[in-house]
Amino acid sequence: MSEQHLIEVKNLCKYFPAGKKRTLKAVDNVSLFIRPGETLGLVGESGCGKTTCGRTILKLYNQTSGQIFFEGKEISHLKGKELLQFKKNAQMIFQDPYSSLDPRMTIAEIIAEGMTVHMHLSDKEKQERVSELLATVGLTEDYANRFAHELSGGQRQRIGIARALAVEPKFIVCDEPISALDVSIQAQIVNLLIKLQHDKNLTYLFISHDLSMVRHISDRVGIMYLGSLVELGTSQQIFGQALHPYTKALISAIPEADPDSEKTRQRVKLEGEVPSPINPPPGCRFRPRCPYATEQCAQEMPALEEVEPGRFVACHFWRDIAKA
Ligand code: SF4
Repeated sequence: MSEQHLIEVKNLCKYFPAGKKRTLKAVDNVSLFIRPGETLGLVGESGCGKTTCGRTILKLYNQTSGQIFFEGKEISHLKGKELLQFKKNAQMIFQDPYSSLDPRMTIAEIIAEGMTVHMHLSDKEKQERVSELLATVGLTEDYANRFAHELSGGQRQRIGIARALAVEPKFIVCDEPISALDVSIQAQIVNLLIKLQHDKNLTYLFISHDLSMVRHISDRVGIMYLGSLVELGTSQQIFGQALHPYTKALISAIPEADPDSEKTRQRVKLEGEVPSPINPPPGCRFRPRCPYATEQCAQEMPALEEVEPGRFVACHFWRDIAKA
């Protein structure tokens, strides 16, 4: 275990019962790490397990198997005070700012809730801290006495960010934090997250299906498909030359800003739907949609292999595909 890693997970699995002795393998054998001050983007289509992965790392779900480390210490089975301490250090910004804020509480109460659980502050200190946090996320003090329904989507997400920051965490899982917002607001929220990261040396797991935003914010990127990581590397590596056919297809769908490049953009279209994680296909799980699949792919599930330092891919034929 390297001391450089704030978060490390090894062979993490999270399964849910799905009736009639069936199991939904939402997260299946995921290993990754995140360095202090870094953003790891986690990308994949809806239902690929990225949110479950984030929630399991935060101990909102108990893992089925595997290990989770925080600052080098295993936290997989923490309970009581130690678990509470971890939860102070590791917070979440939720996807939907419309449903994640209690409509009966004032904004001040929402932001101060975590302080009451994790910090020993007087009412006056809490009030001062709420004002500071509102300023930090770009809102004025008078928002403290309002209710969530009086706010726009972007303002609500700023409150969600202030709530996460209130207990001075080191690590934040940002779970699709912009997907419910208007496009015009999305960049403002992402730029706020980037500024806060620099100011407070925060470490993020940024979960999204929006590759353009992931590219903008992430130092490294992991691509998930049907519960497993299929590729992991620096943003430069992933967006410079994707090695896995699934990553290639996702990247080919990003529109180019330059109209000339957009005209010549070659899109790799994925055929078919994502198979069910209750009954995944044998061998490589991407096989039913992969244009390069062979008989070997039906027989053997490719392992996530380190193909150059810090660069991982799970495909039997990544060398040939990279040249294609
Ligand atoms: Fe495609 Fe086979 Fe590679 Fe899976 S292992 S991604 S099916 S070529």
